[in-house]
Amino acid sequence: MLYIVGTPIGNYKDFSLRAQEILKSVDIVACEDTRVTGLLLSEFQIKSRLTSYHEHNKHSKGESIIEALSSGQSVALVSDAGMPCISDPGYELVRACINNGINVSVIPGPTALSCAIALSGLPSDHFYFEGFLPSEGSERKKRLTALQAFDCMIVLYEAPHRLQKTLGELCEKGFAQRPVAVARELTKKYEEVVRGSLETVALYFEEHKPKGEFVIIIGAGEPITISKDGPSIEERILALYREGLPTKEISAILSKEFNESKRNLYTQVLKVIEFNKK
Ligand code: SAM
Repeated sequence: MLYIVGTPIGNYKDFSLRAQEILKSVDIVACEDTRVTGLLLSEFQIKSRLTSYHEHNKHSKGESIIEALSSGQSVALVSDAGMPCISDPGYELVRACINNGINVSVIPGPTALSCAIALSGLPSDHFYFEGFLPSEGSERKKRLTALQAFDCMIVLYEAPHRLQKTLGELCEKGFAQRPVAVARELTKKYEEVVRGSLETVALYFEEHKPKGEFVIIIGAGEPITISKDGPSIEERILALYREGLPTKEISAILSKEFNESKRNLYTQVLKVIEFNKK
C-alpha cells in the first residue's frame, strides 16, 4: 500500500495523529529532503526508514519504490510541507501504483492553497489553481495571458523574491482593480494576510519587503479582453473613466479603437465601472 501523507505547512501541531501513526507503521517513508522530514519525524519519535524521492530522481527512485511496494512493503509519500502532489512531486508515483495494481490511500493534511482561500474572505465557490508561474520568458508571458480568461478566483504560489515582480505584471495584465488577498507564513508566528485591490496590495509590498512563503488569491471578476497590441479593453475603459469621460463617450471612443459595436461596449463599460467601484 502507498499512503499519501499530508504534513504541516509550518506549525508542527497540525501534524495529525493518523499521519503520525501511518508514518510510524510503514517500512519506508519517501520524502523530498531527508533532512527536512528527518527533523519532523525525530520531533515525534518516528524512526521509520527515509528515502529521498524528488524532482531529479523521481524516475529511478520511482521504480525502486514500486518494486518495494510490489514485494509487499508499505510506503508513505510525504513532501517537505503540506500535501504531496500539490506543487510538489507525487502524482507520477501515484499513477505508477494505479498502473501496477498497488492500492493507494490518503492521509490528508494542511495545504497552503486551502488555508489561503479560507482566510481570503473572497467568494470561493469556483477557483482556478495556477500554482507557481514559470519564473521568466515566453512561458511566463503565456501563463499570465492565459489567466486573463478566468472570471473565477485564481490562486498562485509565489516565492518572496518574485512576489513584487508577479504583482506588478498582474497589474499590467489588467488585474489591477481585482480584489486580492496575499497570505504569507500561514500557520506560523508571522502569519499575515494583506487584502485590497491588486494595485494597492502591490504598493504595500513595495514598502514592506516580502519575507516568507506566499499565496496570492485573486478574487473573481470579469474576464479581461485581450487586444493584440497595447492595453486591453478593460484597461482602456478604466483609463478613460479615470480621465472623467462619460460612459457614452468612452463606448464611442473604444468602438473605434477596438472595432466593436457601441452597444456591446456600452454594456461592458457599465460592468467594468460598476465592478471597480466595489
Ligand atoms: N505541497 C504544498 C502545499 O500543500 O501547499 C506546497 C509546496 S510548494 C513547493 C511551496 C509553496 O507553497 C510556497 O512557495 C508557498 O507559495 C506555498 N506555501 C507553503 N507553505 C506556506 C505557508 N506556510 N504560508 C504561505 N504559503 C505557503
